[in-house]
Amino acid sequence: MAVPKSKITKSRRGMRQSHDALVAANPAECPNCGELKRPHHVCGACGHYAEREIIAQADEIDLDDDAA
Ligand SMILES: [Zn+2]
Repeated sequence: MAVPKSKITKSRRGMRQSHDALVAANPAECPNCGELKRPHHVCGACGHYAEREIIAQADEIDLDDDAA
């Protein structure tokens, strides 16, 4: 097992951990449904991106359409 050669001081540990903070998300409002979504991602609520429908939503699909 690798063993550290010397103790990491509180100062050095703190300097390393100064980069560990989490960054808050930057949600943007969906122009179609107004739900908050990640920028540059398809809206998870309505499946739209740039005001076009990308992902058809389950409640909008008519399953009887091709039943013959
Ligand atoms: Zn949406």
